[in-house]
Amino acid sequence: MKKIAFFDTKPYDRQWFDSLNTKYEIVYFENKLSPQTAQLANGFDGVCAFVNDTIDKKVINTLYDGGARVLAMRCAGYSNVDFKAAYEKINVVRVPAYSPYAVAEHTMALLLSLNRRIHKAYNRTRDFNFSLVGLTGLDLHGKTVGVIGTGKIGQVFITICRGFGMRVLAYDLYPNPNLDVEYTELDKLFEESDVISLHCPLTEQTQHILNEAAFAKMKKGVYILNTSRGALIDSAALLEALNNETVRGAGLDVYEEEADFFFEDFSGTIIHDDVLSLLVSRPNVILTSHQAFLTEEALVNIAQTTLKNLDEFFEGDALTNEVCYHCIEKKVTENCKKQKNGRCF
Ligand code: NAD
Repeated sequence: MKKIAFFDTKPYDRQWFDSLNTKYEIVYFENKLSPQTAQLANGFDGVCAFVNDTIDKKVINTLYDGGARVLAMRCAGYSNVDFKAAYEKINVVRVPAYSPYAVAEHTMALLLSLNRRIHKAYNRTRDFNFSLVGLTGLDLHGKTVGVIGTGKIGQVFITICRGFGMRVLAYDLYPNPNLDVEYTELDKLFEESDVISLHCPLTEQTQHILNEAAFAKMKKGVYILNTSRGALIDSAALLEALNNETVRGAGLDVYEEEADFFFEDFSGTIIHDDVLSLLVSRPNVILTSHQAFLTEEALVNIAQTTLKNLDEFFEGDALTNEVCYHCIEKKVTENCKKQKNGRCF
């Protein structure tokens, strides 16, 4: 039986893998995968990791030396993987889509809560404070939402926004000709949107796509939503835009430095991250800890696809969901052997 080391696991991960796995000896580690913990995978045939694990060159080499030949990411994003280091050593597979609905619905939940102050109202009424002062929101109907990234999640979010009667503007590096949406330049999206929602991957081009210069172009009173990757936003610039009221409110499921905090309980600890502390303290910021994916349907899909990815690897089949140094970010080149051989190398 092949042995797989699962890192950064929580009870909600184990539940579905345990109920669906019949072929593998799975050992669950609560630790994140990092240079300090990678040796735990010595003697394992494969490794399964998640969004906030550190999978740099050192980790790749330790995993490879320990015998692992496949890295199964149980998530869609892969900005934490050093693909160059992994190439020709460890095949990297992922779960490209598990529920775009989960993430898009959570994005709208953040917007609705922010706009109608549900988080404040909930606390007030628990304290028998039935005052409405400070709870005024806006009609979303007729407002303009700017969607950056029109892939799987962006498209579902667009459909949801249209259900609210919103006008949609979109920006994508690779506009989808089959999508009935008004694509525009980023500057126009910044200038005209009442709500801006990020649904693109984190790349060199998109890092800090919302920075000081971008906030300066926005309408006063814009809502900012980020359920994609923290580093898409320059958090210090966001704080300043909240201070000068350019940004009316921010709904964040991700944060630049989240790897140090998210998924763990720090309620009894002093947080040594002033930007995070300031963001959390704002009444017009709602921060959730990378939970947009967390629905039962998504967890089942993640477990099913990850196990199928492992089956394909160990049975010598083509790897449907493999990504590599050459083909990430749609830069499919002749150097990636996937189209010819079914595997990137
Ligand atoms: P996707 O690949 O289907 O779509 C991404 C879109 O972004 C594509 O249309 C792509 O062309 C576009 N894009 C690429 N580079 C761009 C750029 N420079 N500028 C603008 N657009 C660009 O991905 P998806 O499944 O829709 O996921 C979107 C994001 O959501 C990813 O970053 C992923 O990591 C994140 N995500 C978050 C959670 C969560 O729980 N918070 C869960 C799943 C995915």
